[in-house]
Amino acid sequence: MSRQSPRTVIIGGGVVGLCSAYFLAKSGHQVAVIDRDPSGRESCSNRNAGMIVPSHFTPLAAPGVISQGLKWMLNRKSPFYLRPRFDLQLAKWCWQFFRHSNRRHVENCSELLRDLSLESRCLFAELADELSFDLVERGLLMLCQSEAGLKEETEVAEAARRLGLQAEVCGPARIRELEPGTRIDAIGGVWFPQDAHLDPEEFLSALRRGIAELGGVFITDQIVDFRVTEQRVHSAVSLSGETHCADFFVLAGGAWSPPLAKSLGLELPIQGGKGYSFTLPNSGELPVICSLLKEGRVAVTPMGRDLRVSGTMEICGNELSIDPVRLAGIIESFCGFYPAYSKTDFEELEPWEGLRPCSPDGLPYIGKVRGIGNAIVASGHAMLGLSLGPVTGRLVSDLVKGGEADRRLHPGRFG
Ligand SMILES: Cc1cc2nc3c(=O)[nH]c(=O)nc-3n(C[C@H](O)[C@H](O)[C@H](O)COP(=O)(O)OP(=O)(O)OC[C@H]3O[C@@H](n4cnc5c(N)ncnc54)[C@H](O)[C@@H]3O)c2cc1C
Repeated sequence: MSRQSPRTVIIGGGVVGLCSAYFLAKSGHQVAVIDRDPSGRESCSNRNAGMIVPSHFTPLAAPGVISQGLKWMLNRKSPFYLRPRFDLQLAKWCWQFFRHSNRRHVENCSELLRDLSLESRCLFAELADELSFDLVERGLLMLCQSEAGLKEETEVAEAARRLGLQAEVCGPARIRELEPGTRIDAIGGVWFPQDAHLDPEEFLSALRRGIAELGGVFITDQIVDFRVTEQRVHSAVSLSGETHCADFFVLAGGAWSPPLAKSLGLELPIQGGKGYSFTLPNSGELPVICSLLKEGRVAVTPMGRDLRVSGTMEICGNELSIDPVRLAGIIESFCGFYPAYSKTDFEELEPWEGLRPCSPDGLPYIGKVRGIGNAIVASGHAMLGLSLGPVTGRLVSDLVKGGEADRRLHPGRFG
């Protein structure tokens, strides 16, 4: 690479940071990915459900979410929990979430999310060829056990078709046809054939390899501040006082982005949304299509011979304790849909937990920091970070070249 290549420092080596680094390196940048944790244990990207979901065109903030959330708060095993606490940032986040949980907001975002997802889906297919990882293109099954759940999902399927997405409402016979080798206890569901899945760890390793082959480097360090002079970031400063200089800086710190954004003068509302996963090794009755279990909000993903089962959304600040009652809720829900499995299959398994970086309007933050020409934010992807990783990387690379992202994604939209 020529000495004149622009240098870009990316803070955060999760899926968003790595995708940004890969697309920048491909367009000729010298990239350095800085992460404080080389093991990746803290990153939310490692052992998530691995689903690529154009079917998720409804933002997290949507009508009915608050009333459902309040009902779930009363049930210790439910898939949602908000830990009540005195915290001004949480109060502001909740207020913005409340303001955006309406039909107008959903209508304003659905096409944007669809377009981002479809572009990302195409980029995944290209990346699978370039970087050699396994992309399973069999769609996603949304499975329902209640009439009310099936009715809701049938309406989602209709909305998906109005947006030009493929969605097939299925009865039990059609589900058996799609999943002939696995018993599933569901009264029906919806098959979204354009969705896909992969093993996120395999994808992240492939990205790291690709970045290294393009000359990118990986640095273990914790960034605590930025030095800004004349409306440009000059360097990122680490805990030990070391400075990392570059032409451009990308903040992709997931749920930990807000304090760093603050040092750029940017208020970036993000709450950590904790989720858990289990990976059942060498599973017996292995489904071939990934699924979401409507009533328990549990995700089920075959990964090679293994099966990953994940769920819960706990708005808990950035703390990573494990709640065994909620874990039991995930297992119960999964075994209720897949009767070949029982609680004992999970006895020896260690749960993984990750913090989804949740913005209050359900849209990611992708854009330049106002008034600072060389600082870009890529964060707040909540439950879509893997799915939107490649399109985010492509957008970050465009922003560095002088492009603009959609204003609805602007990191300064909350002031
Ligand atoms: C159970 C579960 C299942 C999920 N399933 C899916 C799915 O199927 N599909 C999907 O699209 N999404 C899914 N998600 C969401 C997805 O995992 C996240 O949106 C995504 O991983 C966020 O990626 P990120 O790169 O923004 O953040 P992270 O992966 O958390 O990466 C941020 C990185 O920044 C580093 N960092 C932070 N601050 C600093 C600092 N100051 N200095 C240096 N380094 C720093 C951290 O160490 C971390 O490695 C799931 C999440 C969970 C919890």
